[in-house]
Amino acid sequence: MVDLLPETLQRWQAVEAVARQHFLRSGFGEIRTPLLESTDLFCRGIGEGTDVVGKEMYSFHDRGDRSCTLRPEGTASVVRAAVQHGLLSQGAQKLWYAGPMFRYERPQAGRQRQFHQIGVEWLGAASARSDVEVIALAWDLLAQLGVGGLALEINSLGTSEDRQAYRAALVAWLEQRRDQLDADSQARLNTNPLRILDSKNPETQALLEQAPTLVDALCPESSQRFAAVQEGLTALGIPFRLNDRLVRGLDYYGHTAFEITSDQLGAQATVCGGGRYDGLVGQLGGPATPAIGWALGMERLLLVLEAAAKADPMGPAARLVSARAPDAYLVNRGERAESVGLALARALRQQGLTVELDGSGASFGKQFKRADRSGARWAVVLGDEEAERSEARLKPLKQQSEESTVALSEIAAMVGLLRCQ
Ligand code: ATP
Ligand code: MG
Repeated sequence: MVDLLPETLQRWQAVEAVARQHFLRSGFGEIRTPLLESTDLFCRGIGEGTDVVGKEMYSFHDRGDRSCTLRPEGTASVVRAAVQHGLLSQGAQKLWYAGPMFRYERPQAGRQRQFHQIGVEWLGAASARSDVEVIALAWDLLAQLGVGGLALEINSLGTSEDRQAYRAALVAWLEQRRDQLDADSQARLNTNPLRILDSKNPETQALLEQAPTLVDALCPESSQRFAAVQEGLTALGIPFRLNDRLVRGLDYYGHTAFEITSDQLGAQATVCGGGRYDGLVGQLGGPATPAIGWALGMERLLLVLEAAAKADPMGPAARLVSARAPDAYLVNRGERAESVGLALARALRQQGLTVELDGSGASFGKQFKRADRSGARWAVVLGDEEAERSEARLKPLKQQSEESTVALSEIAAMVGLLRCQ
């Protein structure tokens, strides 16, 4: 689990601000659910045979001897909350969330045990067009952030009957080649055979090239639905690739499943994943409600953004991740200057400026170096003499203009005015 330090968080918040605006414009409302849920919610919701439930959950017994789990994902909790509060009786719900998730996995670049997701859930959406809208919501958010090198992959998992038929065909085919499978996949043959399609083992992957595909097993209605989703994406100009092995890691998915990957992430390439889960609301005790959603990994998104910023230092990603410099850096030294400085910083902040006050009492030279490093456009310089006269020197740090001496009461206007130029 990782600490998030100020430099990262400043980027983080810039991303969240863009996402928040994007969701607001799209009619999605924010929901926050507890980090801790009853373990049973995830066993029922995500499925016992999945990696997440089988080996990745942080579960423990609380003092009341109830089995609790730190949430490994957001969808089950959002659905639980919507059911519990009767939100679905008010019609379809468009919801988004952001926050930490917990999975016991091997930590590596782009994979932590506490990580963060931003996600959306649209409960009560049935049409193929809603699939297209939800995918576009993710695609457009990433585009707005200035992330390039992305690829959208889609698949259809069909109905549960389609999957049952396919599962049988796949198991029959793989049983004959059991000895060519890696150990994990052999075990999955009996528990969750569709997961084998997700195997990262190169030999298993090569073998699967020849295996029967899900797309071929879809009934005509499922095929038509999938075709409509593809047409919808094409009509919006969103490029995609069919990936008939994309099954997603959670049991609740059916019909459309999708992932957005980046060419900047190495092995942990998936930035965003989602799909349709028409059965989940009913399964968790709510009224039968079709639904679709996605989640993106914040840490991976930031890795991609940083790469994009490096590749194009003037582009939108670079603007987003660049540190916000203060408007002014307040250089102050001397008994009188330091007490006036403290009051002045406060007054300037109250007038809306971002001000960094040097509190070191160090030499003017050292303070000027720090002022330069801060990226501020102005140094406001206070010595005892200036302070005595209720004045300060205003020294430009980045732009070509003259240093001047101004009354303390004029500084905010000067800095604020010049900021806009
Ligand atoms: P992966 O195949 O990489 O394990 P997943 O299918 O388990 O991903 P989802 O459950 O679909 O992931 O979660 C959606 C997104 O959340 C992922 O695409 C990824 O960006 C992010 N994510 C998932 N697990 C982690 C993790 N352990 N650390 C960081 N980000 C993660
Ligand atoms: Mg995973």
